[in-house]
Amino acid sequence: MSDAVRMLKVDFDKCLKAGECYYNHPDLFLMTESGFPAIKARRPATPAELREALEAIEVCPARAISLADE
Ligand code: SF4
Repeated sequence: MSDAVRMLKVDFDKCLKAGECYYNHPDLFLMTESGFPAIKARRPATPAELREALEAIEVCPARAISLADE
C-alpha cells in the first residue's frame, strides 16, 4: 500500500490569474493581492475537498492546477 499523499498545486508560470479557482472554490483557494491564488488546503482529504479540487482542475483555463502524489 502506498503512503503517497495527493497534494494540490498551482503552476504559477501557467496561471493567468483568471480567478476561477478562488471565486468558485473558496474553501481551497484564496485570492492574493497579486491576483494569483494561494492554496488553503494543500492536502484535500475529505471527499468534498477532493471533489472541489477536481472541479477546480477541470475549470482552470490555464490548466495550471494539479493534484500530484508525493
Ligand atoms: S483558475 Fe487557474 S488560471 Fe485562474 S487563478 Fe486559478 S490557477 Fe490561475
